[in-house]
Amino acid sequence: MTYVHDTISSLQLSSPAQSEFYQAVEDVLSSLSPILESNNFYKKQAIIERIVEPERQIMFRVPWVDDNGNIQVNKGYRVEFNSALGPYKGGLRFHPSVNASIIKFLGFEQIFKNALTGLPIGGGKGGSNFNPKGKSDGEIMRFCQSFMNELYRHIGPVTDVPAGDIGVGAREIGYLFGQYKRLTGRYEGVFTGKSLLWGGSLVRKEATGYGTVYFAQYMLDDRGDSLQGKKCLVSGAGNVAIYAIEKLYQLGAIPVTCSDSTGTIYHPKGIDLKLLKRLKEVQRTGLIEYLETYPEATFTPVADYPKDGHAVWRYSADAAFPCATQNELTENDAEKLIENGCKLVSEGANMPSTSGAINLFISAGIAYGPAKAANAGGVATSQLEMAQNSSMQKWSFQTVDDHLKQIMKNIFISANEASHEFGQAGNLVLGANIAGFKRVADAMIEQGVV
Ligand code: NDP
Repeated sequence: MTYVHDTISSLQLSSPAQSEFYQAVEDVLSSLSPILESNNFYKKQAIIERIVEPERQIMFRVPWVDDNGNIQVNKGYRVEFNSALGPYKGGLRFHPSVNASIIKFLGFEQIFKNALTGLPIGGGKGGSNFNPKGKSDGEIMRFCQSFMNELYRHIGPVTDVPAGDIGVGAREIGYLFGQYKRLTGRYEGVFTGKSLLWGGSLVRKEATGYGTVYFAQYMLDDRGDSLQGKKCLVSGAGNVAIYAIEKLYQLGAIPVTCSDSTGTIYHPKGIDLKLLKRLKEVQRTGLIEYLETYPEATFTPVADYPKDGHAVWRYSADAAFPCATQNELTENDAEKLIENGCKLVSEGANMPSTSGAINLFISAGIAYGPAKAANAGGVATSQLEMAQNSSMQKWSFQTVDDHLKQIMKNIFISANEASHEFGQAGNLVLGANIAGFKRVADAMIEQGVV
């Protein structure tokens, strides 16, 4: 697979120090040999060289004034990666770890994820190294307004439609949209993940977590099994993790863990979802407070995590749902999960498993749902929000949820069929990468050298 090596070497020269981006590119390209090596069609079109280069990258200064009157400066990003299938679509992340590499890896993944949904959406991603933790509402609002003072030039309902991601929820979307409207004078569907009061869609908040669990259910159906009674490990305690836990309970499973940036909770009786929502959605506190209600649960602080991985994956369980952040499940974690009897991994977060971990899951033959397939429910429901906005309609919870289920089923079917067609039955990494790539690459070719 010299083209993988050649592409990464060339990216290392043209876009230095972007390790997460190289990791995402390698993950996709490594799966493509069955279609790239069997014919010269894509090679002649220089499709790999084109697809790894974003159509446009915007980087900008975000100055704002904190509550003490001090001027703060952050960096803003929007990477408009690929518009072959529709307007750029992908979230904004506000987290201190954000840099060009992280935004490019997320944007690159987003292209194929969006293609897999079968919906008319291109791929993009953005964000800032701004840390919302510990900031007042006023500070968050001033930051969002300053961020939008630049971003509004580049987005629009038929050009680029951002949504939330880590650190960007309904509150931030509200402040961002308010400033967009003020600057442009237009009330239009330029964001998804909006409040239900002004254009949001039912189920959007729940969609990524629910979708990840639906995907797990379809993987198990295919193996003649179900989630009923399964003990599940979930990482994260944010939007994706909370609604994955909710859906796991609805389908009869028992989620026994959650985690945040301070540590991991293990509660063998099952995580108290109501308490978790109160701590993280209302009080916005650290997970250690869970122990005030349940002293019998275990809290492992980050400082006590194993050197080679994450405490959450060291408990024995039937299934694992990584729902926090990238590279949070290492090769050693994967080894322990398999040793302890885990038979399924469905990824809610983006690129949560390292390449070494993925290889172990594939060779062990467990049901493994890679992020770009398993967490596509969020962006798919965003597209349903766009459809409701542009037709000025509001669909019921049931209608949106039915669409979401069907989309997750279709994604499973297309990834699974591609894995069979290309000789690695059940390898959904290969299947999802090939199915997503083919749709984007063929659309790009039909649109000429642009
Ligand atoms: P949130 O900000 O709502 O929650 C993120 C959770 O992960 C929080 O509990 C946070 O801890 C924890 N976390 C974040 N970064 C780290 C870190 N470096 N180390 C340890 N814990 C961390 O984000 P979401 O739930 O929206 O996103 C989670 C993942 O899902 C991300 O990978 C995102 O890209 C992906 N995703 C999200 C979609 C969505 O619709 N929201 C759609 C598709 C993918 P703390 O509470 O302490 O901050």
